[in-house]
Amino acid sequence: QYGDIDSATRLFTSTANKSNYIYTAMFKGLISNNMVEKVFDLLDEMEIKPDSFTLAILFNACAELANDRAIKIGRKLLDEMPENYRNDNAVLNSAMHMLMKFGDIQSAERIFRLNKKKDIITYNAIIKGYVGNKMFEKALDLFEQIHLNLDNVTYIIVFNACAGLANDRAIKIGRKLLDEMPENYRNDNAVLNSAMHMLMKLDLKRVDLGYVGNKMLEKALDLFEQIHLNLDNVTYIIVFNACAGLANDRAIKIGRKLLDEMPENYRNDNAVLNSAMHMLMKFGDIQGAERIFRLNKKKDIITYNAIMNGYNLNDESSKCFKILDGMSHEGIVPNETTWNILIGACSQIGMIHRCEYIIDQIPLDTQNKRQIQNSLIDMWGKCGSVEKAQIAFKSIDDRDTVTYNTMINAFGLNGMGSEAIHVYKQMPNDLRDEVSHICVLNACSHSGLLHEARNIFDEITFKTEKIITTMIDCLSRLFLFDEAQKLIDNYEKTNKPYLIMYMSLLSGARNNRNRHVSEKVYDRMKYLFPNEKQHLVSGAVLVSNIYSSFGEDQLATTFRSNQIKQLRTNATKGLSWTQINDEIVQFTAHDNSHPQASEIDSEIDRMTSELIQHGYKFDSSWITRKIKDGETIQSVLCGHSEKKAIALNFIQRPVPKFIQIAKNLRVCGDCHEFTKLIAKIRQCDIIVRDANRIHHFYPNGQCSCQDHF
Ligand SMILES: [Zn+2]
Ligand SMILES: [Zn+2]
Repeated sequence: QYGDIDSATRLFTSTANKSNYIYTAMFKGLISNNMVEKVFDLLDEMEIKPDSFTLAILFNACAELANDRAIKIGRKLLDEMPENYRNDNAVLNSAMHMLMKFGDIQSAERIFRLNKKKDIITYNAIIKGYVGNKMFEKALDLFEQIHLNLDNVTYIIVFNACAGLANDRAIKIGRKLLDEMPENYRNDNAVLNSAMHMLMKLDLKRVDLGYVGNKMLEKALDLFEQIHLNLDNVTYIIVFNACAGLANDRAIKIGRKLLDEMPENYRNDNAVLNSAMHMLMKFGDIQGAERIFRLNKKKDIITYNAIMNGYNLNDESSKCFKILDGMSHEGIVPNETTWNILIGACSQIGMIHRCEYIIDQIPLDTQNKRQIQNSLIDMWGKCGSVEKAQIAFKSIDDRDTVTYNTMINAFGLNGMGSEAIHVYKQMPNDLRDEVSHICVLNACSHSGLLHEARNIFDEITFKTEKIITTMIDCLSRLFLFDEAQKLIDNYEKTNKPYLIMYMSLLSGARNNRNRHVSEKVYDRMKYLFPNEKQHLVSGAVLVSNIYSSFGEDQLATTFRSNQIKQLRTNATKGLSWTQINDEIVQFTAHDNSHPQASEIDSEIDRMTSELIQHGYKFDSSWITRKIKDGETIQSVLCGHSEKKAIALNFIQRPVPKFIQIAKNLRVCGDCHEFTKLIAKIRQCDIIVRDANRIHHFYPNGQCSCQDHF
């Protein structure tokens, strides 16, 4: 027990007449010091028959190791077990536990039936065996037959079974058990940890089961707040994960407090640090997460994956590549998860050259995994390389729902509606889900395929809110406002109004320069959704665009500034980025932080005068704020981040023939027109991905979106 095996062994060997009692003591000591093989060695020399205590210990030793030798010994001991032990509960329980560990469920069940004096330990052992063999339904079946008082072990095992099963039944049983749990178990760390773990697992399944809100995670935090014991590392990990999952005000408060007060010794525990880092990333606290990352002296692959995943979550994907460099410096080899995260980073950034650079590093056997292939389709689609997305799609034999959906979406994003429909029709019916319908309708909508969209929409049996919204968007883009409104009216007969439906209508009305519809829709939006300020600001901008397009600039300006003043909100900051040589360069509007800022501005001036010679006029209706002193319409519009990013490309030598830009918001109409013309004048291919879609600007002066943006 003190870990001094040598002295114990000496004492043991010097004992002449070894009794079962002495053997049992020695075996117990060896097992608790993880020296099970030694138990078997001693057993080979044992000259007396094991009694019931020794036998139970030996079964446990076999269960512990569960290798070939252990299985052989265990079965032999069981076969040779004297008849009278078949009434001994402790022996039977450990025999059953052993068989379950061997995966021999039938024999374990036979012993269970044989046992005439089943106690709670018997039930615990067999249920635990089922859970260990991932037979969660059976575990719960048996649990429901128990008519004995439950002990703390039962709670732990059944919570684990519910966590493993994570379906409707598991939620019902797990929650009931938790509600009825006696007070005294609420101070048992192991019970609470497994309860919290279960709640988190059930919460992950919540979406599939149609549960709303984060009730399970909230409940996990409720439980946590009842703990009055010393926290252990498992508790820290679980609570950090629960807080990360919730990421609401309460979770942020609890998570931060727990982290601040965490004792020094946990700061060397990798698993604890990794989950703390993940939590801070979910809170959007990148700096805090980076601090923990630096603090961690024993970074493992999970650490690296967690921080990169966090960067993706917080739209700072370009930092992932620096982390990758750091990993190779430390000699840590990326695993499948790492590559998946990096592919995700590439999709977010959407620069073809960067993607190619990363893909070249992925080992071939990893590249051939379906999940990776699916991510690759998404990545190529999002950086505008449909051909490569198609190659990845065709290389997959066992396509799943995600494979098809991603390919449909890739076609849709790139304005290839007919191709998207083709893949949708090719997709087996039982694989189609809500996302498939939405992606194909979106693709139709972006390519103006009305007839096909109507047919597909009519054939969908279960039309969800999002599917209906996509159809409304499609109709609005084609200026079929009455038909779109009818869908809204029909929807609202049984549902609460849904803001995005109105936004679709409004942006269609703007493209149609339909003053009447747009005013009507905007007023209705203000009435129905007074608190959705960000959307209302976008709405006000759209309406004011229409006024400007009728030459009523004064009305446009007054309307816009009045509305924005009333709503008292700041618009989201626009960001654009591009890849220059090996670096991702990012701009905000009127950004002068780049070392070549003045050259960029002169290039914008040069481009502008070339454009004006070709008949371009600045479109002031896209200005979303008051023009300050010293500013002009031109200076405000020329400050837009995508124009800066384009200019930076043009001052490179040699001048590129292909430019790629990505941005976090929708591209404005002025920048769209600007880019169309400059692609023609400079005879250059420009791809711009905005929040909504991908624009391919061709040297012939056209855009793949056909101005439906
Ligand atoms: Zn712009
Ligand atoms: Zn376009």
